[in-house]
Amino acid sequence: MSSACVVGAGVFGASLARELALRDWDVTLVEQHTPGTVRSASGGDTRLLRAAHGDSEWYTASAVRARTLWLELEAATRTRIWEGVGLAWLARRPDGFEAASVPVLERLGIEHDWLAPDGARGLFPSLAADDLHAVLYEPGAGVLHARRATQLLVADGERHGVTFQGARLAPGDDPPGDVIVWACGAWLPQLFPSLVAVEVSRRDVFFLGGDRSWLGVPGFVDYDGGFYGHGDVAGLGVKIAPDSASDTIDPDTLDRLPSAYWEAEARTYAARRFPSLAGAPVLGGRVCQYDLSADTHFIVDRHPERDRWWLVGGGSGHSFKHGPALAEYVADCIEGTRERETFHALGSRAGDAGLRTGST
Ligand SMILES: Cc1cc2nc3c(=O)[nH]c(=O)nc-3n(C[C@H](O)[C@H](O)[C@H](O)COP(=O)(O)OP(=O)(O)OC[C@H]3O[C@@H](n4cnc5c(N)ncnc54)[C@H](O)[C@@H]3O)c2cc1C
Repeated sequence: MSSACVVGAGVFGASLARELALRDWDVTLVEQHTPGTVRSASGGDTRLLRAAHGDSEWYTASAVRARTLWLELEAATRTRIWEGVGLAWLARRPDGFEAASVPVLERLGIEHDWLAPDGARGLFPSLAADDLHAVLYEPGAGVLHARRATQLLVADGERHGVTFQGARLAPGDDPPGDVIVWACGAWLPQLFPSLVAVEVSRRDVFFLGGDRSWLGVPGFVDYDGGFYGHGDVAGLGVKIAPDSASDTIDPDTLDRLPSAYWEAEARTYAARRFPSLAGAPVLGGRVCQYDLSADTHFIVDRHPERDRWWLVGGGSGHSFKHGPALAEYVADCIEGTRERETFHALGSRAGDAGLRTGST
């Protein structure tokens, strides 16, 4: 039996540890805090799952595969992690990310509607659509209960033989195992500064108190406006999240109190885009971090000098949804049955694939 040590129990590490255990590997999963800690990017309350990824077929197919795997995990564990509320892309241009997504959705047979702005009004209790060109609606998209799902992956992994260990490891610890996977999210660049070029950048999210008409409302992405969110899910409130450039931070020392600046931005956006939310109280906020690669592609690669070591990260603000599908891909790469995609390589990156929910 081959052995693996996976360092980091965010969605990447937890999914991979479970996947390797399902493939009969002897797996140890090591985490410095607790799985789903709010200090990790995977420890948020909710994360969107959508198929549309512009013209990228790889990420579109991965999201769809991941959805199947999330639903299987939910059914197998009888634990609710999925809200199938759909998602609306608020397209401001005829030639933007949304329009680029459509041919891929069509090629892969993924259900979607390209709606006139007025035709989308019924999706939300109120929607200001005057600046929209169209709305791309994905009925199969939805919202994952992220922290719960991360903890479920670890618990289910343990049921399948994963050994969990609480510790903070460094490369100098040289953990034992046939394969070592460093899946350390925003901590990856400080562990491998010469190899991992990601910017660790703060993000604030807010939950607003809408009335009952906001229950079961779809997720939304205003890609060119730099905002995303969803209706009221499980009593959390309506999520309004800015997705524009923000401060570079240290994930160990960041005070996670929402900023007054981003709160004002979120309130202003909500009142403008969804007029019935004007004046709604803020029910809560969270501060987390993106680990942004220069082109928003993930990192999946072998360490150039340590053949047994793999580095997995660079989630770039859009990786949660992919967790279990990415784990299948990484496990295949480790087992040598699939080639690592060139766009996941370590090293310098050019361009901006723009795969997250904001273009700025
Ligand atoms: C505000 C926000 C909104 C987002 N929205 C979405 C969304 O809607 N849809 C979507 O798909 N994605 C979204 N994302 C992105 C997604 O959540 C992240 O890309 C994903 O969770 C990253 O997972 P990860 O496992 O790589 O990192 P993390 O979740 O950060 O996990 C890394 C883990 O490694 C541990 N660790 C680090 N160093 C060590 C060490 N030396 N030893 C032991 N343990 C260590 C950490 O404690 C942590 O638990 C969002 C992210 C944020 C911050």
